[in-house]
Amino acid sequence: MFYQSTRGDGKKISSAEAIIKGLAEDGGLYVPESFPRILDKTIKELTIIPYKGRAAYIMGLFLSDFSAGELKRITRRAYNESRFSDLSITPIHKLDDNTFFLELWRGPTCAFKDMALQVLPRLLTGSLEKMNESREVCVLVATSGDTGKAALEGFKDVPGTKIMVFYPADGVSTVQKLQMTSQSGSNVNVVAVHGNFDDTQTGVKAIFSDKELHNKLSDNSLFLSSANSINWGRLVPQIAYYISAYCEMIIKKEINCGEKLNFCVPTGNFGNILAAYYAVKMGLPVNKLICASNRNDVLTQFINTGVYDKNRPFYTTASPSMDILVSSNLERLLYELSGKNGDAVSGYMASLAGKGMYKVPANILEEARSVFYGGYCNEDDTTKNISDTFNNYNYLIDTHTAVANKVLLDYRAETGDKTPTVVVSTASPYKFCESVLKALDKPHESDGIRLIDELSRVTNTEIPAPLQVLRNAKPRFTNLVSKAGMKQSVLEFLDLKHK
Ligand SMILES: *Cc1c(COP(=O)(O)O)cnc(C)c1O
Repeated sequence: MFYQSTRGDGKKISSAEAIIKGLAEDGGLYVPESFPRILDKTIKELTIIPYKGRAAYIMGLFLSDFSAGELKRITRRAYNESRFSDLSITPIHKLDDNTFFLELWRGPTCAFKDMALQVLPRLLTGSLEKMNESREVCVLVATSGDTGKAALEGFKDVPGTKIMVFYPADGVSTVQKLQMTSQSGSNVNVVAVHGNFDDTQTGVKAIFSDKELHNKLSDNSLFLSSANSINWGRLVPQIAYYISAYCEMIIKKEINCGEKLNFCVPTGNFGNILAAYYAVKMGLPVNKLICASNRNDVLTQFINTGVYDKNRPFYTTASPSMDILVSSNLERLLYELSGKNGDAVSGYMASLAGKGMYKVPANILEEARSVFYGGYCNEDDTTKNISDTFNNYNYLIDTHTAVANKVLLDYRAETGDKTPTVVVSTASPYKFCESVLKALDKPHESDGIRLIDELSRVTNTEIPAPLQVLRNAKPRFTNLVSKAGMKQSVLEFLDLKHK
């Protein structure tokens, strides 16, 4: 299986090279040249093996330069039952006759990003070996909260790697901040940046394009890499849980093999739902993919009108991992919808860079709407959905998942569709205690990390083990820098200040 750029430069490369490079030289994203088919017979075979086996099998269809043994070792380590709070790794909670929640937050950092970031570091080091790369890789991450911790936990103490995470000083929740600042490991660093997520991200981008720094690193046998969701190594593990969820629904006798499901996905950068789309391209029986946005509803507008327009106000919401105006992975969808037309995709992206918007023709819009439904949920409705779901079903969900759940209700009201639907639950409610307590109309009596105990008391639910330990955690990283100071902090971390 080879990979090529969405912008059509025509070069074909291996998956190892795609994973190392992240971004193609023409600015495009790497996509597989075709999609392997998954037959009903294979789905049935996958139902009888555990999650890690399913993931290794599905990843193997795309990563043909990795051996089956290598992928089994990687997934055995990544999806080890001792590091997940449920033996099935991705349990499904049944809410009512046709609504199910796929809990992707049972891993070490309590957000769905673990599903990919427990795998990516090993894929990356495996790829470096295959490409005979002897330099050490330093991963730089700008995070709005969940990615940073998941990347730290994935890369910590992985030989041949270092990881440095920048987060906006005032942009993350209490739990997210302590999760990051108390990170263990000998190859990690965490730095707060004055300003918002945009400042942090712009700062990291500037470091990536700094030629002087690049040369200095190279002289010292180092190079920079990114762990963000445009990397193919992050997408491929995500395809697995959609196929696995389908298997689980068969096991639970909720569907027969071959029957269709909907998936409803709280969406930001379009990585998670793109993986669902890829599963559909492989032949997974799906009726609709429901793309749920918060008040930053740029994707809803796109799916409804064919116009992608980022010239709009940016809102800070209670579902911060979805506060995004440029959903990078949409480029990969455009590539498929346009019949793998790299020139067309280049045109849209040039228009986005120049005018902040683009419009796709009617046939592409129609193609998109045959698979996707787009909806959004405002702040009040998010809050109300958390309390309704808890009061009516005794099931506690986080703010991101609530956005998806509300959009599903709207979808059903609009279409009358009764297809069984799996809502993708992306974070533990305990990561967002402030918002969830507020939604339940419980004024906080405490603050800081004590809020996890309060949420547990009020809802009579269990605090996930990785968050319980935060009660006694001591922040290890307390550095706070300005955007201009970020480069210096990278040099210090890599011991290159005086070189
Ligand atoms: C990252 C994240 C999302 C958005 O996922 P994308 O792949 O960027 O669309 C949704 N919910 C949570 C909790 C997240 O951390």
